[in-house]
Amino acid sequence: MFVSTKSALWFLILALTILLFFPVMFAAEDGYALKRQQMVEQDIRDRGLKDPVVLTVMRKVPRHLFIDESLRSRAYGDHPLPIGEGQTISQPYVVALMTEALRLKPGDRVLEVGTGSGYQAAVLAEIVKAVYTIEIRKALADQAAERLAALGYRNVKVKYGDGYFGWEEEAPFDAIIITAAANHVPPPLIKQLKEGGRLIVPLGSTVYFQTLTLATKRKGDLDVEQISPVAFVPMVGEMQKR
Ligand code: SAH
Repeated sequence: MFVSTKSALWFLILALTILLFFPVMFAAEDGYALKRQQMVEQDIRDRGLKDPVVLTVMRKVPRHLFIDESLRSRAYGDHPLPIGEGQTISQPYVVALMTEALRLKPGDRVLEVGTGSGYQAAVLAEIVKAVYTIEIRKALADQAAERLAALGYRNVKVKYGDGYFGWEEEAPFDAIIITAAANHVPPPLIKQLKEGGRLIVPLGSTVYFQTLTLATKRKGDLDVEQISPVAFVPMVGEMQKR
């Protein structure tokens, strides 16, 4: 068979690229996949969380891509991490705990208050049809929107604003998750929750500790169940005026 020197050269370059880069790419991906796997087993499953959908999603979402490059080696540790502007990405166990408590269904439309890095929104977006997330700090809202789009999350909408007032145009929601400490549940959010819908919120003092609280809307009112003690950054804006 006749092969020109030029095409032989191209073939060689191609073969070398595949040989050299693919193992590197897989090794890097595998390194994180392994850490994610360990995180899910030790810090989430062994602490009693069982929902197979939530566990699968926590094994999948690349948490290291939601934080600054300088912190990546700690991305899968059992703790929150700084994300700039004095804010934090929650501990993986808390993200899983809140997600599981909402008992989500694939067709659900979910509202999140406190986008932060966008990680919790990505976890939700892997499970439900549509996620609407609000962030009060412009720089964080912009960065999260960009990041979620780059990662291909087309079912997440990010809004810059005060989540106290919810997202009227997109209401009602099947579930609402507040990822900043609140001393009461904002009435607009109760209104925007469907009958039978679930809302989870770190409720209590906005400056110290709170109780992770799950509320179900029944006949317009909230049925409340306390889950566990937590420590979140405070919800600011309208929440602080009341
Ligand atoms: N869910 C985020 C972490 C949340 S940290 C993640 O996965 O990374 C809490 C976030 O709530 C912060 O980014 C903070 O700026 C935001 N926040 C505080 N008060 C808010 C409000 N009233 N409306 C919307 N976002 C608020």
